[in-house]
Amino acid sequence: MQHIIDRFISYVTVDTESDSSSNTCPSTEKQWDLANKLVEELKQIGLEDVTIDENAYIMATLPSNVDHEVPTIGFIAHFDTSPDFSGANVKPQIVENYDGGDIVLNEELNVVLSPSYFKDLLQYKGQTIITTDGTTLLGADDKAGITEIVSAMEYLIQHPEIKHGKIRIGFTPDEEIGRGAHLFDVKKFGAEWAYTMDGSQIGELEYENFNAGYAKLTFNGKSVHPGYAKGKMVNSILLANKFISKLPKDEVPQKTTGYEGFFHVHTVTGSIEESVVELIIRDHNLKKYEKRKKLVAKLANKFNKKHAKKFGGPIVNCEIGDQYFNMREKVEPVMHIVDIAEEAMKQLDIKPLIKAIRGGTDGSQLSYMGLPCPNIFAGGHNFHGKYEYVPVESIVKATQVIVKIAELTAAKAK
Ligand SMILES: [Zn+2]
Repeated sequence: MQHIIDRFISYVTVDTESDSSSNTCPSTEKQWDLANKLVEELKQIGLEDVTIDENAYIMATLPSNVDHEVPTIGFIAHFDTSPDFSGANVKPQIVENYDGGDIVLNEELNVVLSPSYFKDLLQYKGQTIITTDGTTLLGADDKAGITEIVSAMEYLIQHPEIKHGKIRIGFTPDEEIGRGAHLFDVKKFGAEWAYTMDGSQIGELEYENFNAGYAKLTFNGKSVHPGYAKGKMVNSILLANKFISKLPKDEVPQKTTGYEGFFHVHTVTGSIEESVVELIIRDHNLKKYEKRKKLVAKLANKFNKKHAKKFGGPIVNCEIGDQYFNMREKVEPVMHIVDIAEEAMKQLDIKPLIKAIRGGTDGSQLSYMGLPCPNIFAGGHNFHGKYEYVPVESIVKATQVIVKIAELTAAKAK
């Protein structure tokens, strides 16, 4: 267990925050620091064909140790951390034999990780929990996933009695800014299917995610001196406000769960002359998703019709686009890849928690690029903030799940 803790800490103490405002890949130079270190480690534990390309995508191979044909499978994780919260100078704290009470992350700043607010903590009573010092995120998302994949490969190399087919591993930059899959070379990876190790609590297994789109509405106003504005001024801020009020009030993130979709207005900027409303549109069901996009377009049209005469031309410009799609469509035809992961968990006494992701994963993009790719728990909680933590036992279990999937895939191919 100490070995796994040391490995995890050696990753989270390297700052790899990504940056959505950058156009390069990786989006930040510092991601190379961990990427280069990982390449060395993969070679050192004995993986073959270790490569890193000009965009810092890492791939490596564990060759098959059986004579019969086994489908090549892959495991994928990302090494960047979220720009939502600082990932520099991470000082992990280790709480052994967690007693179920409050964990003081930072006495000076009075930051407390409490089970009265974060109830998930209670299921880890008696376990070893790694937390932050209350000033940064931890980076278990997704360095727990990296730790698990490296540890599983190391274990398989050290235990040749466990039979498996060819395994490919892939580590990517920039997942947190939605680009982790963008430059992933699916053909070079050469796996029939793969799993991202990038979920949260122990047992999570996911092959459904949102269909996702965005809309950007630009309202045009007319600025006139307020003292002389009667019949002349068009205040675009008020138009934007009116538009927002026409969206279904209960279909917002804070009022929906499970398979319920939503509209989420996340940015409004404005002046009299011009106001911009940006929203995202989400739904697991493709038909409902298309309907949601249509509703936004229809509202914009109505606005233009209603006001065009009065203001002499269209007053709102509406731009709508897709971001990613539900991977279910690509995974369902090869459902055995989910079944194998589920069986692996059951054999390890882990209760599979199969649920639809209310978001996207790199796996959903990869699935549409030809690599079906469900998502498996990496073990952490409260991602993208100072309350992030991970129980070491969950990292160990996820490592075992990888080993077991490799074993089952080979056994089933006989
Ligand atoms: Zn992640």
